[in-house]
Amino acid sequence: MPKNGIFRTARGYQLHLRGKKTLTPSMEDYLEMIYRNCRQEGFTRVNQLAESLNVQAPSVSRMVQRLTQLELLDFEKYGIVRLTQSGRELGEFLFHRHQVIEQFLSLLGVTDSLLMETEMIEHNISLTTLEKIARLNLFFQTNPEIYARLQEFEPRALDPLHFAWKDWLVTTREE
Ligand code: MN
Repeated sequence: MPKNGIFRTARGYQLHLRGKKTLTPSMEDYLEMIYRNCRQEGFTRVNQLAESLNVQAPSVSRMVQRLTQLELLDFEKYGIVRLTQSGRELGEFLFHRHQVIEQFLSLLGVTDSLLMETEMIEHNISLTTLEKIARLNLFFQTNPEIYARLQEFEPRALDPLHFAWKDWLVTTREE
């Protein structure tokens, strides 16, 4: 077996990890958005969540019920949703995780697909890797002269990444 693990398909890794994680990616998305929305007034509403996540209100209601069962939310009357203490702590982590990844991609120069790729990556990253990325972000922020050198760097060795079949992939290179 290779030292750093066994090969699986992406789906295989997801299934392998599923048993070890309490929250699904979808639950993480909701909790993060509830945290974002609650930052102003301390609460959010089912309708507001449906709008900010581009989903239907009945889907929000179902998810809010599941998260309430996990004691992460308090669901009050009139569609008002509040975070419990543990919900707030989890939401804050998810929010920071998002920021770290977005900042990292941003430092790399990603622009057009920044939000989409952050949303795709955040659910599939380990805490160890996240901490290493946060460290790199901080390194570039505190050493702007080194970051400037990265931006000037134009290697010729990227040719293998330029190929004819990119349309076969879901995400293509930014032009
Ligand atoms: Mn996110």
